[in-house]
Amino acid sequence: MRPFIYEQPTDISAAVALASSFTTRDDHPTRANAQFIAGGTNLADYMKLGVAEPNRLLDLNRLEEQKLRQIRVTGDGIRFGALVRMGEAADHREVKKRYPVIADSLRLAASGQIRNVASLAGNVLQRTRCEYFRETSWACNKRVPGSGCAAMDGFNRQHAVLGGSNACIATYHGDFAQALIALDAVIHAQGSDGARQIPFAKLHRQPGDTPHIETDLAADEIITAIEVPALPWARRSLYLKIRDRESYAFALASAAVALDLDGETVRDARIALGGVATVPWRAGAAEEVLQGKKLDEASAGAAADAAFAEAQPHQHNAFKIELGKRTLVRALLETRDMKV
Ligand code: SF4
Repeated sequence: MRPFIYEQPTDISAAVALASSFTTRDDHPTRANAQFIAGGTNLADYMKLGVAEPNRLLDLNRLEEQKLRQIRVTGDGIRFGALVRMGEAADHREVKKRYPVIADSLRLAASGQIRNVASLAGNVLQRTRCEYFRETSWACNKRVPGSGCAAMDGFNRQHAVLGGSNACIATYHGDFAQALIALDAVIHAQGSDGARQIPFAKLHRQPGDTPHIETDLAADEIITAIEVPALPWARRSLYLKIRDRESYAFALASAAVALDLDGETVRDARIALGGVATVPWRAGAAEEVLQGKKLDEASAGAAADAAFAEAQPHQHNAFKIELGKRTLVRALLETRDMKV
């Protein structure tokens, strides 16, 4: 591992100032010399593998602002401080009651040990586990821009069928993000240009020609909070995750679903897909198909067809299209049948 300088700023302004002085506006956060670390469950792995090579780590765990560690539930929704740990949010009574899809997405992610350490902000910023990205001897446009993509002609069973490009088809592997994008969450960030809010749907960037640019954040911006607006009918919501084994595995396909029902008729629906796309994936076309329809196997199947209408399979991952559709159909019907 490359040697690095370790610093522990004690307030957000100091952390931003440190990052600003060792990065430029053009640096992308994942390639910058100075990088923030909280739980470190993703960044530390990639530093050990030589995939990430910052020469300065800014540990955020000593920041004194208490709101970074708080979950606040109000009439306007719920606000998660950026340093709240995944396990804490998953076990929060009001989160489980008001937004089961959030609690499910966190509970089904990683191992208990990792959930106790990983921060919520770090979780949404986690990087892909594409095997060719993790192993530095392979060509990878995300790790080394312009070097090629070994996954295109390699073993791409885990890769994305939605949102890919000729440069990269790496899957976004997080779970929490699918719940957040379905619920129209907002990110609060602070950098040298001040504080701003970013709609969660605009945080992650599809790879296009620049897969090394993964989010809309600048290198000196810190996520300070994640806010989920009030949505009373989100009590009828869930996250369904299908994977190769029942624990500690990434999704082959997943669905985050929230439904507003009038009897069995859909007044409104929120749908996001995981395990199948390069970014957290809001399935707007599927939501539109369900508007005003009775929710049954036929309409759920039509919604699933719409969700994957633009899917592009590669040599080993075509199964994800059918699996993704079945996952969504099951998630919709299970959400319909929830007792709330
Ligand atoms: Fe790299 Fe993306 Fe290709 Fe994986 S899919 S090797 S991350 S460019």
